[in-house]
Amino acid sequence: MTHQFPSLSPEQKKELSDIAQKIVAPGKGILAADESTGTMGKRLQKINVENTEENRRCFRELLFSTDPSISNCIGGVILFHETLYQKSDSGKLFPQVIKDKGIVVGIKVDKGTAGLNGTDGETTTQGLDGLSERCAQYKKDGCDFAKWRCVLKISDSCPSALSIAENANVLARYASICQQNGLVPIVEPEILPDGDHDLQRCQYATEKVLAAVYKALSDHHVYLEGTLLKPNMVTAGHSCTTKYTPQQVAMATVTALLRTVPAAVPGEFQAVCSHCSVSFHAACYIPLSFAGICFLSGGQSEEEASLNLNAINQVPLKRPWKLSFSYGRALQASALAAWLGKAENKKAAQEAFCSRAKVSLIIRE
Ligand code: 13P
Repeated sequence: MTHQFPSLSPEQKKELSDIAQKIVAPGKGILAADESTGTMGKRLQKINVENTEENRRCFRELLFSTDPSISNCIGGVILFHETLYQKSDSGKLFPQVIKDKGIVVGIKVDKGTAGLNGTDGETTTQGLDGLSERCAQYKKDGCDFAKWRCVLKISDSCPSALSIAENANVLARYASICQQNGLVPIVEPEILPDGDHDLQRCQYATEKVLAAVYKALSDHHVYLEGTLLKPNMVTAGHSCTTKYTPQQVAMATVTALLRTVPAAVPGEFQAVCSHCSVSFHAACYIPLSFAGICFLSGGQSEEEASLNLNAINQVPLKRPWKLSFSYGRALQASALAAWLGKAENKKAAQEAFCSRAKVSLIIRE
């Protein structure tokens, strides 16, 4: 079966895979600073800081004006719409502050969850209407990647077949629209850690969800090398009485990924195309590797997330992808606690953020 109606040109594919590779270059992960106004309110409430636009700007300014050496471990930052148009203390737009450090700018493009009627409280994610136009504008405004989060949960009846199919399809449709507009889509099917399920149950659910996501991405002709996957690590539910070691979490996580996520195209880019022997044949452009998998922290402590990711990168199984992070809470918790909304604590908060970022991905390739 030939590919009669290619959805992307070779140049578009090259641009996308170059962006994806840059974000997860060796040793680098993503700072997810894309909390919606409501979610940011919850974070600020914990430190008794009012949820105003200026306070949100101040905390983000602190993160983005951290020492430029942060770019050794952060390859991308995900912003919320409001933050994309805010400025640093010196009057520079945040996307420019981030780009000046050689870091790629991303944007959350989903519009949150909505209930799936007739299920046990399951959801899909909204935001497809007008998405293409919004993506085009975000690209013009300095973004090169996007994020869309779907949420699934584990219970006796969840994740249901409907929630798996619906969330896989909406993620694939979003990914296709992003790629048409030059944005690398982060595909995030998050399985929540709420509940008392054990590690095996989470592994089973993760495999079912990821298998459906990759089938849908294929159905929608999404160019995989120009995507990033943002999954949950495979962990037991928060209320599970059995405790598992980072090595057990790592084994379950990498096994689930190996069973469901397409493997890397191995080897170096060939100057002479192996398919047609043309010296640089863009149509056969093969990137160095399938870009990468960036785990969310999903309520794990900073320490726990680092130990688990380190174990994941040491597990004695094949690992044909970059295995990195895209953390929100696990990169910001100490910084928020050090800041407390006070200008005089800015430096201490920046140091806390830097030291977390530096130990998040201990394995340097
Ligand atoms: P956490 O790492 O705090 O789970 O957040 C990551 C994220 O962006 C969820 O969409």
